Amino acid sequence: MSNDPNDQACTPDAFALLHHVVGVRLARGLLTVVDATNVQPEARRPLLALARRHHLPAVAVVFDLPEQVSHARNAGRPDRYVAPRAIHHQHALLGRSLPGLAREGFRAVHVLHAEEEVAGATIVRAPLPCNRAGDHGPFDAVGDVHGCADELEALLAVLGYAPDAAADADGVRAWRHPEGRQAVFVGDLVDRGPRTPDVLRIAIGMTEAGTALAVPGNHDVRLLKALRGQLVHRTHGLAQSMEQLDATTPAFRARATAFLDGLASHYVLDGGRLVVAHAGLTAELQGRDSGAVRAFALYGEATGERDEFGLPVRGAWAADYRGRAAVVYGHTPVADPAWVHDTLDVDTGCVFGGRLTALRWPERGLVSVPALRPYAEPRRAFLPAAGGGAPDGPPTV
Ligand code: MN
Repeated sequence: MSNDPNDQACTPDAFALLHHVVGVRLARGLLTVVDATNVQPEARRPLLALARRHHLPAVAVVFDLPEQVSHARNAGRPDRYVAPRAIHHQHALLGRSLPGLAREGFRAVHVLHAEEEVAGATIVRAPLPCNRAGDHGPFDAVGDVHGCADELEALLAVLGYAPDAAADADGVRAWRHPEGRQAVFVGDLVDRGPRTPDVLRIAIGMTEAGTALAVPGNHDVRLLKALRGQLVHRTHGLAQSMEQLDATTPAFRARATAFLDGLASHYVLDGGRLVVAHAGLTAELQGRDSGAVRAFALYGEATGERDEFGLPVRGAWAADYRGRAAVVYGHTPVADPAWVHDTLDVDTGCVFGGRLTALRWPERGLVSVPALRPYAEPRRAFLPAAGGGAPDGPPTV
């Protein structure tokens, strides 16, 4: 920016360029390290805003070394001069920043206090929890189960999975596929149906065994809040789930809470060719991690409008989708899954008397089992296949 490295007058230009470069890198999803004297909230704020805009977490690494170390290192630099009082001022600002740093929006704050600590520190790059592009399945993406354990067991059996012979003390057992296929639950395991604890047992057993992955649905998140003792209106089937869970042991409830709490917002799978999110996900949000990503994955795109039933109108993200990955989701019951621009809704309204459906990936075949009966009234019509929720007959493949 200037031919003189000590020219402080070009600082605003230098930071404008820095922020531009950071934005370009974050748009590509690249790990980006900003090594600067960000000792004031005003210096950190635009960087945090950039991370948020690109739906990526920001981490603070703080070099809170003794002031004498800074003075000694400054004195040892032949080409640069920083006035000792400037260093003293920076130390004071850093000290003032430390208590509130975690609340500024950093996902993690690492503070290093001594030269030995800096020398002994190791940097470990962990992929975001949603990034499982290295998992190649093959997968069976299962639509909203909503406590329909009978139908889930039937579907898993039709798909070729079999349960372990023995269950553990919580009644948890894994189901496994002889060819190593993995089930992927698209969320809304719970609420409205008759056997929510058993559905959780299957999902917990399979995820622990590595034979399934699960993403959370809006119902799962609400149940998690209730299990944690937070105040939640026990509507839309939550009351039944809590009653059913009250009949289980505290140990199982703790395990279910930990399971629901540990779910990633969505998954990018199979080399980036498949994305699973409860309510779908636009291309810009895939593989990223922010409050906005989580909200979209759980609830879909809010337009702020309400329909004739008073329910929020969700944007037609699928109609506009042009992403590289196929997106498999649930959340909104449909009579028959149909690909829309490489997105597929596999929620066929089992709990409302429809079917429970899985998408086989990469084959792209659909497998369904009919609901034994309707367990709840849908909030709005979703046109069940064969009209009025009549049984479909044998499983369709
Ligand atoms: Mn649902």
